[in-house]
Amino acid sequence: MRCVPISFLLAVVLVVSIPGCARQAEHCWVCEREIHASVRATLTLADGRKVHACCPRCALHYQEEPGNLVKTISVTDYSSGRTLPFERAFLLEGSDETPCVHHPPVLDETHMPMQACYDRCMPSLIAFGTDSGARVFLSEHGGTLYAPGTFPGLSSANQ
Ligand SMILES: [Zn+2]
Ligand SMILES: [Zn+2]
Repeated sequence: MRCVPISFLLAVVLVVSIPGCARQAEHCWVCEREIHASVRATLTLADGRKVHACCPRCALHYQEEPGNLVKTISVTDYSSGRTLPFERAFLLEGSDETPCVHHPPVLDETHMPMQACYDRCMPSLIAFGTDSGARVFLSEHGGTLYAPGTFPGLSSANQ
């Protein structure tokens, strides 16, 4: 048999592509939103377990809730995808990039209201490993940049 049957080729293609397809979207351990790799945060819990959160803000909210013991939080550098400790990250708050929140299409004035609801991932909080990376992003998306260790926390952001 000289020709490779098409079905065999298809099977090969399928097998080869499975690892990509099988990698299901990760979901936030805290709020169950889909995790976008560029803003993923990882919490190390008191018992040593590591769990993933959809973004630094969601992770911080979890840490803030009474009774939740979190040892460390690591975040993702939005520019490089590298992981770094939360304390060493430049944090950009309130930019127009809101990976966790799906914006409904803007229709017309009559469909606007419900938007003002509290959202645990808003205002957005995005981490960067470098000042320059954060500034490039800031110039395009706005927001307030905090150097490592200067982020005031969440209390003012609630409600
Ligand atoms: Zn979340
Ligand atoms: Zn989030």
